[in-house]
Amino acid sequence: MNVPTLTLNNGVTMPALGLGVFQSPPEETAAAVAEALAIGYRLIDTAAAYHNEREVGEGIRRAGVGRDQVFIETKVWVSDYGYDETLHAFDKATSKLGVEQLDLLILHQPATDRFEKTIAAYQGLETLLRDGKVRAIGVSNFMPHHLAELLDGTQVVPAVNQVELHPYFTQPAVQAANAEHGVLTQAWSPIGGITFYPGWGEDRRSVMQDPTLRQIAGEHAKTAAQVMLRWHLQQGRSAIPKSTNPRRIAENFDVFGFTLTDDELARIDALDTGVRSGPDPDVPRPDRFAMVIPEA
Ligand code: NAP
Repeated sequence: MNVPTLTLNNGVTMPALGLGVFQSPPEETAAAVAEALAIGYRLIDTAAAYHNEREVGEGIRRAGVGRDQVFIETKVWVSDYGYDETLHAFDKATSKLGVEQLDLLILHQPATDRFEKTIAAYQGLETLLRDGKVRAIGVSNFMPHHLAELLDGTQVVPAVNQVELHPYFTQPAVQAANAEHGVLTQAWSPIGGITFYPGWGEDRRSVMQDPTLRQIAGEHAKTAAQVMLRWHLQQGRSAIPKSTNPRRIAENFDVFGFTLTDDELARIDALDTGVRSGPDPDVPRPDRFAMVIPEA
């Protein structure tokens, strides 16, 4: 199965569906990545802050898939923001991954308590792009006002903005701002993982259990996760579901043989609560921001 691709605003193509590895324990990550590549995934989304870039690289090598066949996306953490720091963050990431070039390097989130460092970090990404060290650059967790401020202070429009996006939090204003500027929206927690991860509020409802999604899934003999991924893909978004379980890695890739109707897409859109489950990008998190990304 050749995974469909999306064309970024600089002409680079990216697989629409990929494997995320946030909270994939390092000891399980290489196996999950190799498993995913064996069944046809060609996009892996990691981050310096996930502390598993080394295992992602190991999984790619273990799968025996050529470097040019895999789209590697990773993220610069806030403690590495600044121009020189970001150039160095590229060196740290590539040495852990064991590759020379990255396909997509993005800023993990706006540092709202020191946005000038965010801008300087992005200017570092622009240099890496110009020097051919990365094929595309982008951002994550940027609200429309962050994007506007970034565009004011930099030259290259981000190729991607990766944001929390699942049926309970669809961020229409973010999607509209991205579209207006030619930025591809990539969904994190695309199947609502953040709505049931422990420690994020016990009174929340899991998207997985939603009756509407389950009904639509039943009608297609698919799972709620597969319906959510189909919803992203049919609406032109990239999605990067995480799993370390081989059965669920395969399930999340088996989404190309059915189509949701316009009515079903609209019913899923209508589930939006307007309430995020993950961290608010406008609220600085000093402890988390201070996390140091090791050299090796
Ligand atoms: P997610 O992919 O929506 O959900 C992952 C959770 O769902 C895990 O608990 C996984 O457990 C479970 N799962 C996976 N497939 C399933 C299926 N078919 N049926 C039932 N359960 C299933 O959430 P996420 O990990 O938060 O987000 C995905 C990726 O987005 C991350 O891995 C990361 O790459 C990225 N992300 C980025 C940010 C950011 O700030 N930029 C933040 C969060 C996430 P098992 O592993 O046991 O299957």
